[in-house]
Amino acid sequence: MDLGGLTNHVGPRPAADAGARPPKDAILVHREGKAHWAGCYHLPSEKDIAAPTWGWIPDRKLWKTIGSDQVQATGGNTALKARTRCRNCDG
Ligand SMILES: [Zn+2]
Repeated sequence: MDLGGLTNHVGPRPAADAGARPPKDAILVHREGKAHWAGCYHLPSEKDIAAPTWGWIPDRKLWKTIGSDQVQATGGNTALKARTRCRNCDG
């Protein structure tokens, strides 16, 4: 019997495989550098907020820093930096 290595095993996947989810109150960072709060009408549905398009910053205090400084995402796609604040979210 030769399966040629092509098995179709579908088993439980490791939790990390499901994609990390942002904390509800984290700053969300789009890959183009814009930062949003959850609930902004600019955002896709919650399930689509994930790496590699999105990163996030759980430390809410850093919101005011964004714009004068870049803030590195610490969750999701951690290569992303928040450079500008969404004007809608900043109100
Ligand atoms: Zn926004």
